[in-house]
Amino acid sequence: MADDKRPPPVSATLHSDRRGGVEHGAIHKPIHTSVQYGYERTEDLIGVFQGTLKNSFSYARQGTPTTAALEAKLTQLEQGLGSICFSSGMAALSAVFLTLLRAGDHVVSSHFVFGNTNSLFGTLAGLGVAVDKVDAGSVDRVRDALRPKTRMVFVETIANPGTQVPDLEAIGALCRERGLLYVVDNTITSPALFRPRSVGAGLVVNSLTKTIAGHGAALGGAVTDTGAFDWGAYPNIAASYRGLDPRQWGLQQIRKKGLRDMGGTLAPEQAHRISLGAETLALRVAQTSATALALARFLEAHAAVARVHYPMLASHPQHALATKHFQAGSWLLAFELRDSSRMPAALDRLQLAIKATGLGDNRTLVIPVAPTIYWEAGPVVRAEMGIADGLVRVSVGLEGADELIADFGQAIA
Ligand code: PLP
Repeated sequence: MADDKRPPPVSATLHSDRRGGVEHGAIHKPIHTSVQYGYERTEDLIGVFQGTLKNSFSYARQGTPTTAALEAKLTQLEQGLGSICFSSGMAALSAVFLTLLRAGDHVVSSHFVFGNTNSLFGTLAGLGVAVDKVDAGSVDRVRDALRPKTRMVFVETIANPGTQVPDLEAIGALCRERGLLYVVDNTITSPALFRPRSVGAGLVVNSLTKTIAGHGAALGGAVTDTGAFDWGAYPNIAASYRGLDPRQWGLQQIRKKGLRDMGGTLAPEQAHRISLGAETLALRVAQTSATALALARFLEAHAAVARVHYPMLASHPQHALATKHFQAGSWLLAFELRDSSRMPAALDRLQLAIKATGLGDNRTLVIPVAPTIYWEAGPVVRAEMGIADGLVRVSVGLEGADELIADFGQAIA
């Protein structure tokens, strides 16, 4: 696991899609739109279905050369064994939970996860999979929540929107000791800032929609198997996948059941856009993280601001964990004004930052969290998740730090 803490080299990401030899010498992987794949020999056609013809394609729902090139790029970025792309981050998360868990199983999750992931846990409960949520900033809470039927521990590296950071390494050691599958959502950090493999995660989920694609113009998600988990000991692998090398069991089940059977396929056009965006991942994340830190410091020092949530501020409750694990603090921060009744008018005065529904764009986006993305969750869940009524989430883009500080300064003055 040498070099795990260093970000992946930019050149490796840039050149990855042409390393396998691209048709006609094109230096970008083309967009392959064919749904069907034809073979000269019947034996090869049979080999596609029986898994004996390597690097072959059967039907675009399960993958195309274009998505395969993106999968190889993501595997390289995460230093993993293999990756599978999906139509969105939620499709990737759904595939992980629905293909690897069965009724009666138990999951321990960080309390602080993306709202739709939390809602998906409700769906799992309806299917007989219990999810206990704990403050994963403490490994003891995770350990205390384990049960005999616990199969999986799930955390986000930096939680959206509250920026809480779990004790990633200690939880990894606990999962290894107990033989549990450790699933880490790396969306906010991305492999440019952190590789979950370095703390023993077995599976990594990325919403490609956000910083990996970067430009807010494509939806996508991916699951990467790091190779750290022993699938040979996992009880929920179907008999049909147990004939393979055990290292492939997890990926095979997620691809066959999660992609082939459930159909949340990433379109090749989107895979191409995401691939192009990923070429500048390291540059964008370095820039947006530096700007986010400058903005977080400015806001923290401002008299009108009660609290800023950003892992690279010394005031952040998990600052030590964040500096230990992450190259930088990412582009996500949140803040609360002292007088929350002034928040809507302050947001209305912003000139550059856009009041927008989502996050992870090249443009800076802001949203008041409680009355929008956490409205459906209700006051009890909001309180549990530490979401104050006046919390504002900021997704920092590529504007200059000075420009943004001036914009937020005039808005909250
Ligand atoms: N995971 C995290 C941490 C997210 O922030 C999001 C979306 O914001 C997702 C997963 C879901 O990704 P997508 O919007 O691509 O479905």
